[in-house]
Amino acid sequence: MNERILLCLCHMSGKEMDFINEAFAENWVLPLGPNVNGFEKDLEHFFISGETDAKEETTTVQAPDLKISHDPTLFAQKRIVALSAGTAAIHLGLVALGVGHGDEVMVQSFTFSASANPVTYVGATPVFVDSEPDTWNMDPSLLDEAIADRIAKTGKKPKAIIPVYLYGMPAKIDEILEVAAKWEIPVLEDSAEAFGSRYKGQYCGTFGRYGALSFNGNKMITTSGGGALICPDEGTAKLVTSYATQSREPYPWYQHERIGYNYRLSNISAGIGRGQMTIVDEHLAHHRYVQSRYRELLADIPGVELHENPGPEFDSNFWLCAITFNDGVKVKGDDGCGAPEAMRRMLEKDNIETRHLWKPMHLQPVFSGCPAYINGISEGLFNRGLCIPAGPYVGDAEIMRVVNSIKSAL
Ligand SMILES: *Cc1c(COP(=O)(O)O)cnc(C)c1O
Repeated sequence: MNERILLCLCHMSGKEMDFINEAFAENWVLPLGPNVNGFEKDLEHFFISGETDAKEETTTVQAPDLKISHDPTLFAQKRIVALSAGTAAIHLGLVALGVGHGDEVMVQSFTFSASANPVTYVGATPVFVDSEPDTWNMDPSLLDEAIADRIAKTGKKPKAIIPVYLYGMPAKIDEILEVAAKWEIPVLEDSAEAFGSRYKGQYCGTFGRYGALSFNGNKMITTSGGGALICPDEGTAKLVTSYATQSREPYPWYQHERIGYNYRLSNISAGIGRGQMTIVDEHLAHHRYVQSRYRELLADIPGVELHENPGPEFDSNFWLCAITFNDGVKVKGDDGCGAPEAMRRMLEKDNIETRHLWKPMHLQPVFSGCPAYINGISEGLFNRGLCIPAGPYVGDAEIMRVVNSIKSAL
């Protein structure tokens, strides 16, 4: 039997244990400490200060969300808070935006459930918005129509907009920001899958008022489990940190004036994160390399299309590579289950893990009662697409195996 090829495995630099050993040696085994602070600094260097240093060459779009990200002075004020999960980051982003009971939040429908679940944690209702076909992410004009319709129907403006960067692909974020600015609704980017992806030279996660990152086991970098929230400034970062540590007020006793959460990243996990930050550039380069190999090798297979950057302004990290099957493509063993499922079963026989594209939230039983603005794009993609292995442990030999398996299943 061939060795199993998994969709996306985590990969260590070797430096992680040094940071962890240091934490043990100094007894920093708790959710604060030098690794947490160090990891936040590393992230801020990657997303913010490294960026402002290079600002002269990389001019970015000017479609500001409440004029935060595109003014270099304001951009430089952004701060990052390390948290226990990407889901926690989205949750605290909503809390910091003051989203609460009875509010509505516009959420991309084509996503993993963690984009939408936190909306319900604060007692709000997700309103799902379908995708456009180029990036597979939130359709800006449908968003605009949906917001107008929500206001007409409820007399209230939605409180936030959550676009997602699926599989690392940047959304048409400048258009989304224009819609957001027009209605004066803040954007909370779900950048969980898009660590290192750029739109017009700017990192995903730094466009909106808040941006959520994930370091779960199979993401671009991992802390075993963890996340972070990119905040507009020191003040909001302090507030988010306070929420993440049970909202303790600075008194000699335990004093609480707001409901808090236990969402801070552990100092051990943050040690993994610091190690991971030493190889993040290699991870990014490798994911893009895998995509380029698939591009070459899948080019001559009729009926199978690789999801690509739709234009020069998009620079996906290709966290996962995704293919779609054109109408009329016949996959062996398709008993009516559809091309993606038939292909998944065929590749499974060759010990290759693949995964259906995210099933849109508006089709999920748990969200069936939520309003949704639908154009058919995400459902169509769900019925036609499949994620194929990527990541540090997928090299030339594995790529060949995947491609050959796909070929022989057709
Ligand atoms: C992974 C992921 C999350 C959640 O991140 P966790 O760290 O697993 O909580 C949120 N949104 C999307 C799109 C994701 O892929």
